[in-house]
Amino acid sequence: MAWILDLDGVLWLSDEPIAGSADAVARLRGRGERVLFVSNNSSACVDEYLAKLERVGVPVQSDDLVTSAQAAATLVEPGETALVCAGPGVDEALKARGVRTVRDGTADAVVVGWHRDFDYEGLTRAAKAIMAGARLVGTNDDATYPTPDGPIPGGGAILAAVATAAGVEPTIAGKPHAPMAQLVRARVGDDLAGSTVVGDRPSTDGLFAVALGVPFALVLSGVTKEGDLPVEPEPTQVAADLSSLVV
Ligand SMILES: [Mg+2]
Repeated sequence: MAWILDLDGVLWLSDEPIAGSADAVARLRGRGERVLFVSNNSSACVDEYLAKLERVGVPVQSDDLVTSAQAAATLVEPGETALVCAGPGVDEALKARGVRTVRDGTADAVVVGWHRDFDYEGLTRAAKAIMAGARLVGTNDDATYPTPDGPIPGGGAILAAVATAAGVEPTIAGKPHAPMAQLVRARVGDDLAGSTVVGDRPSTDGLFAVALGVPFALVLSGVTKEGDLPVEPEPTQVAADLSSLVV
């Protein structure tokens, strides 16, 4: 069993730590609980996430971090070529799997994730590769991404642009979809009884809990606010933040 924690909106908002979350993780670990960090954010490399976690006071081994970039990489076979329309985290995960990555030309798959330098040229390269036969893989379909100044467009917004231009339906890797659930099962082991998913977004974290067959604890420190309640799927618990959830 494990506590399966989302990152954005649970541990931090963009670069701002959420007060009390690091102490809450320490309390869980102090009770001997395993804490797994599962993020739909695919943009950064594993070492950057580990450094950021360390910075906010949560030291994590790479085994306890699962990203949608890693889940997306499981949808591309070793030896295949992928056109990357995403951040460096996707490049890293694909290369670790033995996939050749390119930014232009033809490919077996186009992998789309959130990246700040997305532009019309990148959209064109991605759409052309798909029209030439590549399949479309999205790291995640989150419409927005929470920041201290409110939500900004997320990976799902970029994915929608590529899918619309190419006229295809994507296969999506991240929460709440099956590739991410399989990765988490592989890390935790098949016995998820007693586990809890903690997240700020019912449409991803909540449905992910449903996919894993475990309770969903909603925290109101990210994209979902008190005024948005009730939400679907219905959380087992609602708390202001991780600190008040883990007492
Ligand atoms: Mg989140």
